[in-house]
Amino acid sequence: MTQRARKALIIGAGIAGPVAAIFMKQAGIDAAVYEAWPYSTGIGGGLQIAPNGMQVLAELGLTDEIIRRGSVAESFDFYSQSGRRLGTVNRNMRERFGQPAVNLCRATLNEILVNKAWCSHVELYFDKRLVAIEDRADRPLMAHFADGASAEGDFLIGADGVHSAVRRHVVPDGPKPFDTGLIGFGGFVPRALLSHRSIGQRVETTFGQSGFFGYGFCSSDPNDGVMWWSTQPSHGISAATYRAMSQDALRQHLRNFHAGWHDPIPQIIDAAEDIVVTDTLDVATLPIWSRKRTLLIGDAAHATSPHAGQGASLALEDAIRLGRLMPEGVDLDTIFQRFEQERRPRAEKIVALARRNGNSKRAFSPTGAWIRDHMLKLLLPVTSKGMDFMYAYNPRRAA
Ligand SMILES: Cc1cc2nc3c(=O)[nH]c(=O)nc-3n(C[C@H](O)[C@H](O)[C@H](O)COP(=O)(O)OP(=O)(O)OC[C@H]3O[C@@H](n4cnc5c(N)ncnc54)[C@H](O)[C@@H]3O)c2cc1C
Repeated sequence: MTQRARKALIIGAGIAGPVAAIFMKQAGIDAAVYEAWPYSTGIGGGLQIAPNGMQVLAELGLTDEIIRRGSVAESFDFYSQSGRRLGTVNRNMRERFGQPAVNLCRATLNEILVNKAWCSHVELYFDKRLVAIEDRADRPLMAHFADGASAEGDFLIGADGVHSAVRRHVVPDGPKPFDTGLIGFGGFVPRALLSHRSIGQRVETTFGQSGFFGYGFCSSDPNDGVMWWSTQPSHGISAATYRAMSQDALRQHLRNFHAGWHDPIPQIIDAAEDIVVTDTLDVATLPIWSRKRTLLIGDAAHATSPHAGQGASLALEDAIRLGRLMPEGVDLDTIFQRFEQERRPRAEKIVALARRNGNSKRAFSPTGAWIRDHMLKLLLPVTSKGMDFMYAYNPRRAA
């Protein structure tokens, strides 16, 4: 009879990590989470949790809190640079998929997930950057951290994101994150900025001749209640280079890039503070997701560029599915293989869709942008239907 693994070491307290730990606990397995950064409740910009991700949060009893602290998104509306309406997707999500899409601050989501993990008696350690994994037969698996500490467990889950150190252990010569040629700017502005526009709970997004801009409500906070983001060609300039610039210089860059775009984009840029800059990264398909007693989940396994709005939801799905695949009496190798077989086709389909979406945010000639806008208008109803498979997924049952 196979002896059951009792203790999981989980690397990363972003989205997949704390949630996987909670589902491990529910499956009767001890879980300890190790995060590289000190505990903080003030990181990152805004993001949207899609209905499929909300289904996972519902299993944790978190939907009311997420909706109360975020803002339900009732649709995604597209405009041209001059403000001409091109169409709408993602209407009536709650009615169609049982959960709404919700915008919220990444920091708020992280705080909610970490608190839930604490309440579920998960051990959480911050300021613990994994540097090495030791997996020798007949010995407990060891994780070593940058501060000289180490921890032992029966298996290890790499939930350490796009720059995963665990990925390097699983696939030593595997693909590295690559720059997709686009760069993201984002942040929050006061709710009053949208008061004249009556956008309700719609998210408004604009395709320029080059680049993309979006905004929508993300909380009831009067000072920070609107999230915004700008995606543009990076022209080889990294996020680190932009981050070294002053906020005034970043605002000026955004003003120049979005000059002539419709209202309220110029007003949002003028009001923007604490602008966050992120590289838009992708990782080629990994040949394997696990090696001996170590498994990758979330962005560590299938990093996706943000253009499908699904990375967080896929990470949440991975966490619940792994927990549900941990029954008594099945060996780890079988569980890891079952997990990969179940999750890989869906994750790879969505990663590919995000790549395609990213292409429409690159630089176009004036004629190219005109054709793209007309094609978008024509094709949106079909495109919209083609996205339903992402939201309709039920993470309580196997795919
Ligand atoms: C600009 C932008 C906008 C996005 N918008 C959306 C959106 O609207 N909707 C959506 O669903 N997705 C969005 N995404 C994608 C989403 O953020 C990711 O897919 C998601 O965060 C993946 O979750 P994860 O838990 O796998 O990784 P992460 O959330 O990245 O968490 C990984 C954690 O591991 C930690 N870590 C890293 N290395 C180590 C180490 N060596 N030791 C210990 N800890 C380590 C990190 O500090 C981090 O806390 C966006 C991404 C970007 C860049």
